[in-house]
Amino acid sequence: MARLSMRVQTFGAGTPDLAVVACLHGNERCGKTAVERVLAEKPSFSRAVRFVLANEEAIAEDVRFIDEDLNRAFPGDSNGKTHESRLAAELLPELDGCGVLDLHSTESQPEPFALVTRLNDRTKRLARATGVGRVVDISYLAGGLIDYVDGVAVECGYRGSERAERNAERVLRNFLGEMDALDTLSDAGSPELYRVFDAVEGANYEFVGENFVRVAEGEVFARREDDRASELRADRPFYPVLMSTDGYDEMVGFRAERVGKLVE
Ligand SMILES: [Zn+2]
Repeated sequence: MARLSMRVQTFGAGTPDLAVVACLHGNERCGKTAVERVLAEKPSFSRAVRFVLANEEAIAEDVRFIDEDLNRAFPGDSNGKTHESRLAAELLPELDGCGVLDLHSTESQPEPFALVTRLNDRTKRLARATGVGRVVDISYLAGGLIDYVDGVAVECGYRGSERAERNAERVLRNFLGEMDALDTLSDAGSPELYRVFDAVEGANYEFVGENFVRVAEGEVFARREDDRASELRADRPFYPVLMSTDGYDEMVGFRAERVGKLVE
């Protein structure tokens, strides 16, 4: 059976050096909705922008991926064995030279925040253009799309929620406005920068803290109450990032430190 590929649309004159990617994960539809809402207005783009709907097959089946996590499949292989390996190889050339906004949603928290791996002037500019208040350096977690392009990923809110859709739309409009692609009201953020330094492994834990709220040394931040009841206690202060009860099977999430303001 032929697999659906990905949907690529380019607007504005010239070769795009700006791109928006939605649905690297097929069950995170907020980015798709946001892009559709913006494009439905048939806006006039003052610079070229490429929009990519990455995993249409996974969207159609409402699953994160078909064979493997697309965001862990880069650089991919056009003759690869998995659908996502082939998609990854197809996607990177479409983003060649582009500053990328990559829209996601999570199980971790309702407020949007941004993720970067390559910290340079361009990615800082892209991150600020999203208008969000928090940016997390996740170079600790190598291998995602934003390791292969200059880009910023945004976690827009709870997967499947209307709020995530509204956040994604707000982030997208702000981004396009700040990057001079659309004539729209926008604001460059002055976000706080965090840096992930550790993953917290473990299955079946209930996360009892709050993301981006500091956990003090000695504080319990997760517990499990089954036959292997136990608590996870902070051996040093940290900020939880992407921590949740159900977000991952074998992991609670990540520990981060606060770096300060993101400055260009
Ligand atoms: Zn995602």
